[in-house]
Amino acid sequence: MNKCVFLVIAILCFGCKKDVIQNEDTIRVSVAKWKDGKTSALSFTFDDNNVTNDNVAKLFNKHTLNATFFFISDLMIQHAPKGRYSPNLSLYEKHEIGSHTANHYSLLDLKENQLIYELKDSRDSLMKYTKKRVYTIAYPYGRYNDKIVSLAAAYYPFDRYAFFPTLSLYNGYKKPLFGGERLLVALDQLLDGKNMEFVSATLSKGAWVNVLGHNVGGKSGDYGYLTSISQLDEFLIHFKQDSSIWIDTFSNISLYKEIRDGSKIVLTDSLMSVVMDDKLRAKYSKFGFSHLPITIHVATKVNLTFSGNALEAVIRRNGEYDVTLDLSKGDSVKISHILQQV
Ligand SMILES: [Zn+2]
Repeated sequence: MNKCVFLVIAILCFGCKKDVIQNEDTIRVSVAKWKDGKTSALSFTFDDNNVTNDNVAKLFNKHTLNATFFFISDLMIQHAPKGRYSPNLSLYEKHEIGSHTANHYSLLDLKENQLIYELKDSRDSLMKYTKKRVYTIAYPYGRYNDKIVSLAAAYYPFDRYAFFPTLSLYNGYKKPLFGGERLLVALDQLLDGKNMEFVSATLSKGAWVNVLGHNVGGKSGDYGYLTSISQLDEFLIHFKQDSSIWIDTFSNISLYKEIRDGSKIVLTDSLMSVVMDDKLRAKYSKFGFSHLPITIHVATKVNLTFSGNALEAVIRRNGEYDVTLDLSKGDSVKISHILQQV
């Protein structure tokens, strides 16, 4: 066994040996755009709990990828246990279940007490029925206004917007959200070559693309969505092979994006802290989040080790680091330099 002695020295402490970190070893720390240093993000959401979604869930299980399914709670309960809108919940264990309200009404047409039923009661029934936390609401027909959004915020940390050029789903849509950073694209459009290229090009710019599907693999004429399971399979294979794309649920990507945008790095003598906006922290506490993950990128080729609330450090091929922290356990992480003496 090589009798190496490892000396751990806090690199930013007072009295550090100057020769440990050379000038050219300047360490730059930044919050990574996406988790684990991935360069873009891709989520999949499937609206309306038609049982055809069971095959979609099976496909994602086969690929060990996680998707988000928006269920219409009252419709699902009315059809239980084996009706057309009653999915086999055992297939959805790894996936996010979001609310698509209780009855899929256009929310713009409802009074406040009806709105609260569609938002809150839907969430509560889904949590009871699926035994999962429900974090995201998807507005039926993509119709909402400021009042609906602020009411929804009392019950859901995240909402999925959709912009439709017309109310007809058949026309599809392809419009950037949040200044072009997050895109929402209809799945049935993706499967012609042009749109595959469009999504690839958008991901290559570091964006988050959310792909929206309805009744994938359903019968012709049922909402007009004809995308087959085998086409979706090809689509997943295509994007999964690119390890720079972070594929995850809508709420996980929303959470990361919010923490990233609401956090800053503070460097003191021997500690590096990632400080999150107080309002965000209060929001996640209210919604009972047990983990608040954020990845920091440390640009240096010096050997480092991380302690404190660092979950894991991944050394990238170029010698730099991506370190995922759990902010729910506190803000600080100590970065230490390992000296190897032979
Ligand atoms: Zn819908």
